[in-house]
Amino acid sequence: MILPLLKGLGTTFKAIFSKPVTILYPEQKRPVYDRFRGRPELQLYDNGKVKCVACTLCKTVCPSQAIRVIEPAEGSYGEKYPVEFIIDLTRCIFCGFCQEACPKAAISLNKEYELAQYDKKLLIYNIDMLKPKG
Ligand code: SF4
Ligand code: SF4
Repeated sequence: MILPLLKGLGTTFKAIFSKPVTILYPEQKRPVYDRFRGRPELQLYDNGKVKCVACTLCKTVCPSQAIRVIEPAEGSYGEKYPVEFIIDLTRCIFCGFCQEACPKAAISLNKEYELAQYDKKLLIYNIDMLKPKG
C-alpha cells in the first residue's frame, strides 16, 4: 500500500525538478521552422508600392480559389498594379503555390500563424491587410 504511494511521490518530485516540456503560450512562442508557411503577404518596393503587377498567375494556380485580383490599373509609367487584391483566408490552405507562381516575387507566405478570428469576415484580407506589418 505504502510502496505505490512512495513511487508516485518520487515521480512527482522528479517532474518538479525537471525542465518543463510546455511553454507559457501566448507570452512565449516557439520559433517556427524555416519552411513554415504562414500568412500570405504582398511584398513592397522601397517606395512603398506593391511589387504585384496584377498578372493574376497566383489566382490561376490557387487550388482553393482564395485569391481575387481586381481591375489591373496602369501607373504613369505604364506599369500595371492591382486596384484591389483579396485573399480569403477561410479558403487558403497555405500551400505556397501563389508564391511559387509569382514572376515578380510579389507574394510570399510569412511566418505569422496566429490568424484565428471570431468573425469570418475578418479573414478576408484586402490589399492593405496583406502588406507587411510594421
Ligand atoms: S497559399 Fe495556396 S491556397 Fe493560399 S492563397 Fe496561396 S495558392 Fe491559394
Ligand atoms: S502572380 Fe504575383 S504579380 Fe501576378 S497577380 Fe499574383 S502577386 Fe501579383
